[in-house]
Amino acid sequence: MNAGQVSLWPDTGTYGGVVRRPRLACYCCWLVALCALAGLVSACASGSSDQADATASSTSARTPDATATARPIATAVPTESPEPTATEVPEPTEVPEPTATEVPEPTAADVAEPTSAVSADSSEAVEPTSRPSEDLPASDYDGEVKAIRTVSGAVVAVRGVTASTYEVVTPCYNLASITGGLELMGGLDVLIDPGHGGDESGAVGPNGLKESDVNFDVAELLRAELIDRGYTVELTRYSDVQVAIQSRAELANALQPKLFISVHHNGGFPNPFPVAGTEVFVQLDDPEAQRLGGLVFEEIQSAFASTDIKWMGNLETFGVAWRKNDEGTDLYGILRRTPDLVTVLTEAMFISTEAEAKLLAKPETLQTEAVALADAIERWFTTTDPGTGFVDGIVFRGDLGNGGGTEGCEDPVLSR
Ligand SMILES: [Zn+2]
Repeated sequence: MNAGQVSLWPDTGTYGGVVRRPRLACYCCWLVALCALAGLVSACASGSSDQADATASSTSARTPDATATARPIATAVPTESPEPTATEVPEPTEVPEPTATEVPEPTAADVAEPTSAVSADSSEAVEPTSRPSEDLPASDYDGEVKAIRTVSGAVVAVRGVTASTYEVVTPCYNLASITGGLELMGGLDVLIDPGHGGDESGAVGPNGLKESDVNFDVAELLRAELIDRGYTVELTRYSDVQVAIQSRAELANALQPKLFISVHHNGGFPNPFPVAGTEVFVQLDDPEAQRLGGLVFEEIQSAFASTDIKWMGNLETFGVAWRKNDEGTDLYGILRRTPDLVTVLTEAMFISTEAEAKLLAKPETLQTEAVALADAIERWFTTTDPGTGFVDGIVFRGDLGNGGGTEGCEDPVLSR
């Protein structure tokens, strides 16, 4: 997110309540987190014209039938995996910094001291935690059709079915009756959430590259890669539409994927860094989410270890960590609102820096990231590897605004 979009981000002052090892947050991550809290708003502008018609596009043609394309993955069910032990999946606060052998640890000489200016950017919207009354009443719907991929490319959670309509929760978190669309039955392996979208673009690079577009492109590539590997996968949006964090979380909870990953690229003004300044946010007190986050961090760092550009990052937020609000729950809505799922939010690098924005403009970069994420996800399903990169979490206090929520959101056409 750029300076012109800071309304979605809290400024440095609002984060005054940092506790534990205070660290400057990755601002894009904050935005993401904010988005996640509110219901990830994500969109991909690039290629949006091709993706707008969810049922007619080639993407649509790839849409796996949950039962037809599902490949039994005996080791994929988390409950079948050995319970990670304390030594295998250390709590973020207990885990040492990434080791030099796996991830070059920035040294003081490599990394300039973060300045307060970096915290001005917060493209990740954090849904306000103080407005629970804005939540829709809980749904007791338990029908077979869990969601609808609509004509506009938006995917909406179903709360009821009549003879001719679906009762759904719209991208802007309204209740509505719609017709048509592709029925999704749930039972997914992976739900991918491309952060931001529509008028809420997230961070923007010096070259004009929008985070919402990059997030979407990586998400689509990741989806294709995972389908090739036999997994059932859906996206939270198939076009460049704004989606409130609440709606993204409602969709995830309806579809009940085995894992839920929100894809973002960071904003803000970090400092020179020896490696990609990857930041991954994980759910509190969820060893499997933390393990997935550690694997995502490890694979992204490995994938870009030999890429020689002027990387930038924040030493104090580099790695895998939770973010807590002053109520003691996950700061980011996408993590907090999906307590029964394994959810992580990833910021592979900074789209807000010149070199990384240029790198992200290359299709091969997005493919490399997508394969890295697929490798991490496959390892989560098939191994008990603990991952690396865990660092201390941070507690934030104060009002983080409504970024990523319903503010300014206009629902797209949802009925055929
Ligand atoms: Zn973001």
